[in-house]
Amino acid sequence: MAPVAIIQDLGESQRLLESVVHNANDAILITEAEPLDAPGPRIVYANPAFTRMTGYSLQDVLGKSPRLLQGVLSGSEAPARIRAALGAWKSIEIELVNYRKDGKPFWVQLSIFPVPNGRGWYTHWVSVQREITKRKESEETATELRVTALQNEALNAEIAERKLIQAELTRVAFHDSLTALPNRTYFMHSLRALITRVRDEDQHHACVLYIDLDQFKGINDTLGHHVGDLLLNETAQRLRRCTKDANILARLGGDEFAVLLENIEDSNQILLTANHMLDAIRGPVVLMGTKLRVTASIGICFVDQPSLAAEDVLRDADLAMYAAKRKGGALCVVYNEGMHAAALAELQIKLQLAQALDQEEFEVYYQPFVDTRTGMIHGMEALIRWNHPTRGLLTPHAFIPIAEDTGLIVELGLWILRQACKDFLIIRQVSKQELCLSVNVSSRQLEEPRFLPCLETLLSETGMDAELLMLEITESVLLKEAGSVGEVLQSIRRLGVKIAFDDFGVGYSSLNYLRKFPIDTLKIDQSFVRVMGHDPVTASIIETIIKLAQTLGIAVSAEGIETEAEAEALQSYGCSRVQGYLYSGPVPLYGLIEMLSSPNPAALWRKF
Ligand code: C2E
Ligand code: MG
Ligand code: MG
Repeated sequence: MAPVAIIQDLGESQRLLESVVHNANDAILITEAEPLDAPGPRIVYANPAFTRMTGYSLQDVLGKSPRLLQGVLSGSEAPARIRAALGAWKSIEIELVNYRKDGKPFWVQLSIFPVPNGRGWYTHWVSVQREITKRKESEETATELRVTALQNEALNAEIAERKLIQAELTRVAFHDSLTALPNRTYFMHSLRALITRVRDEDQHHACVLYIDLDQFKGINDTLGHHVGDLLLNETAQRLRRCTKDANILARLGGDEFAVLLENIEDSNQILLTANHMLDAIRGPVVLMGTKLRVTASIGICFVDQPSLAAEDVLRDADLAMYAAKRKGGALCVVYNEGMHAAALAELQIKLQLAQALDQEEFEVYYQPFVDTRTGMIHGMEALIRWNHPTRGLLTPHAFIPIAEDTGLIVELGLWILRQACKDFLIIRQVSKQELCLSVNVSSRQLEEPRFLPCLETLLSETGMDAELLMLEITESVLLKEAGSVGEVLQSIRRLGVKIAFDDFGVGYSSLNYLRKFPIDTLKIDQSFVRVMGHDPVTASIIETIIKLAQTLGIAVSAEGIETEAEAEALQSYGCSRVQGYLYSGPVPLYGLIEMLSSPNPAALWRKF
């Protein structure tokens, strides 16, 4: 249909142009030049492509403004730019959203240019529109894809960061911050997994090594926590060097480490590794200018019973380690079932000990000292016994170490001292000669600041003659820091009380102690006495010690004399003050009184 209604008097070329416009694929609109403000220039022509594109017929749009094509998605920017161009009588090319007659939006590329008349006045605007919805959609899809890609990238970065955080949290949760070794939680987790493997595979041999430093508390207390931390780090490194990468080495806490040894060929391999560790730790270590020699105790427990829980295995390894410590440390001990029973019994004793004192279940026994030259009793040693309600009479070995561990020895020790001093008043009344009383004292008691004032009060309250009292101490007391022990011993001496060095010859007994500490008597240990009979070297050592002590003005006695030969030999070396089953074992107070009241105590020897 020709646009004859508005455009008239066209020549041949104009008819040709009209045909081009009419048949163009692009939508073409012609509007009047004005008004630019609302309601906008009126449409005077629209070609069929316009109708195809917008759904509006020519009749629909004639006399109306092209603004009827605009809507919400057209926005405000594109229409404003068009208005600005038209206001300046300039052509413009722009992309914007228009709306079809049915309300559907679509993208167009729009060119508008002014058309002048013969006099050069702009009388009309021609707008050519091409639909570009498909291009826009693919552009949008590309943009969306780019945004999605960017979002994915950001997500991946976030996941990577989360993984890092997760890894760090896991590291913190399962590792020890000081040594960077796996911690107890990690170790238990691995041990549980191992027990499952042992359950599933027949030939899977594994064990746990429980390692504890022997001197750590002392080092920490005396040299400070910083040195303690350095030592733990050094220990961790030395242990690491003794284990294969596949073996888990963990710090359980404090100075306790544990190793999980898997795929072991035989028990020799374990002992080899354990000894390798003991040697590695034993090597001197210099920390902050201080050279230290440290040893460790190792408990070994095989993971061979799948029914056991990980906690049980670790406890058993700990028990074995404790047994190694009890034996003096610096060695490894393999767990056996007896240890479990012993630990239970020990726990029982611990619980019962506290009540035993209140329930007056303790009793002091006395073992006489005999002078081999006269055959007379010249003193006695107080030795504690526990009348246990169900287990009968218990000797000190069964409970003194536990009382020392728990600290109860402080109370118990004072009770023994008081009881022995009270008994001594009775003993002196029946004795025809001057006697002395020996009482054993643990290092733990001497460390207690109230020990001295209590001793002083006790002496005055019981009326005990301080000159007749002798405290027996063992080497463990002297091994403590020299200064403080020396002072306590001096103070004891100032009260008039004497000091004996008990069990001389066991451990590292150093002759230097005799010079360094105020010791009145040296008691040769029974282990020495026992060997003396068949070992001439030991016999010479004893003889030399006796001579040396005498030169230093220190009295010598010996314990554990069981044969006449031992007594005679000791007397020949110059030691006539002895104690032992040859004469009498420890006896209750009435037994000692019977001996002392007898005109011939020798007749009663071996009766007790
Ligand atoms: P100790 O002070 O060296 O006492 C000597 C131990 O050897 C005593 O064991 C005694 O019964 C035993 N004995 C004596 N003569 C012989 C002998 O001829 N042959 C043998 N084989 N043994 C003999 P007991 O009474 O079992 O005491 C063991 C240890 O317990 C004591 O060793 C002492 O270190 C400690 N102890 C005993 N009573 C007390 C106490 O009241 N306080 C403290 N802190 N420790 C005590
Ligand atoms: Mg003793
Ligand atoms: Mg002794």
